[in-house]
Amino acid sequence: MPTKAIEIKGFIPVTMLDWDGKLASTLFVGGCNLRCPFCQNAPLVTCPESIPNVEWKEVEKHLKAKKSWLDGCVVTGGEPTIHSGLKNLLSGIKKLEYPVKLDTNGTLPRVLRQLIQDKLVDFIAMDIKTTLPKYLLATRTKIETEVIKESINLISKSGIGHEFRTTVVPGFVEREDILEVAKYLGHLGAKRYVLQQFNPRTVLDPKVGKIKPFSRKYLLKLVKECNKFVPTKLRGAG
Ligand code: SF4
Repeated sequence: MPTKAIEIKGFIPVTMLDWDGKLASTLFVGGCNLRCPFCQNAPLVTCPESIPNVEWKEVEKHLKAKKSWLDGCVVTGGEPTIHSGLKNLLSGIKKLEYPVKLDTNGTLPRVLRQLIQDKLVDFIAMDIKTTLPKYLLATRTKIETEVIKESINLISKSGIGHEFRTTVVPGFVEREDILEVAKYLGHLGAKRYVLQQFNPRTVLDPKVGKIKPFSRKYLLKLVKECNKFVPTKLRGAG
């Protein structure tokens, strides 16, 4: 069966926000197999068909033209790994000799394993939504949570650059959850854990938009606690 070409739903030609320390271009692909109520990309996740496609030719032209000063290319979503055309997209970027960062929710470890084996990714950023027993609450999707563990183990031991990150949404992920995740990551020798501030604006479930985020002070305290187990930093809290 021929592979369906992946549709690019968004393109940021230059950004310093999506790959720490790198000037990158970012490509967005639509669709996701989860429905996190605090998701900030609701249209991209629930109705990607309503968003016009960006032509690969346009992206390719930009990447070729800016080769001398861009450091890499980020592929994010939605969830990129649900698309059979992801491999072709990453191969296209690699042909232009760009390092690739992939953002993922980690639900498809077999896809990640293949991409790592094929040397199509240089850095993986995986979301860990919360502790495994709370995954249904945090993703509103029934999944076999063993796959999350499998992806964490795979990425931690892959030898490629990586980070794990948790958006700290009160009610979905609490201090105890964060510390449990940090301990697990530390035990595996993961390189980096990132706590991300929750932004209640434009979330998938409007009720979740009424949740008050934790204070920066509280998050910094959490970061300090996590640092006992795994190198941890805070992102998006001003
Ligand atoms: S937060 Fe990520 S994993 Fe969750 S629904 Fe949005 S894109 Fe999917």
